[in-house]
Amino acid sequence: MRDQTIVLPKSIPHWTPQQIFGQSRRVKQSIVTLDMEGVLTPEIWIAVAEKTKIPELRRTTRDEPDYDKLMRGRLKILDAHGLKLSDIQQVIGSLRPLEGALEFLRELRASVQVVILSDTFEQFAQPLLRQLEWPTLLCHRLDVVDDRIVDYRIRIREQKREAVVAFKRLNYRVIAAGDSYNDTAMLLEADVGLLFRAPENVRKEFPQFKAVDAYADLARLIKDAV
Ligand SMILES: [Mg+2]
Repeated sequence: MRDQTIVLPKSIPHWTPQQIFGQSRRVKQSIVTLDMEGVLTPEIWIAVAEKTKIPELRRTTRDEPDYDKLMRGRLKILDAHGLKLSDIQQVIGSLRPLEGALEFLRELRASVQVVILSDTFEQFAQPLLRQLEWPTLLCHRLDVVDDRIVDYRIRIREQKREAVVAFKRLNYRVIAAGDSYNDTAMLLEADVGLLFRAPENVRKEFPQFKAVDAYADLARLIKDAV
């Protein structure tokens, strides 16, 4: 076999990244962080409650502010009805992104980097991400044994806000959009926070965020902010 070692000519000095990039001016770039449920897709649990006809699954963080209690309750209900991950995935697979969401996202991703920040789980999001042409999603993970959801794992607490903090540290200007209470920490942390199809109480409580209901308006506000 031939020796593949690459020998650099002596005339090329060994530059460190510090020497290469240290002199150049830093550029601030923009990144958009979007909530998923309510902004691009239907609320997954509500859809599952409707399709499985199990009304107890309709409970959300608005009814039960303790997220851990809410999730453990949901897992218990799934178990009691013998519902496995594949059953839920089948239901989720029958959901469609909100009307106009794909076109909105396509256009947005063509002009700026977009990351979806959601408190859903990898295994639930997959069928919807496929229909949204696989955008980048940061979320959590379910513990599954033989198709039974036995537990859930949070990657990091307050992940939406923490992601914005991290992007800002990477010298990004962050434009964030969401629809609900679990987005407000992200919106407050972002350089520009926007509400999309938010309920009246959220709009009233957070008047500092511009609130819109149509994708064209959201796209325009994001474009102005980038
Ligand atoms: Mg939402």
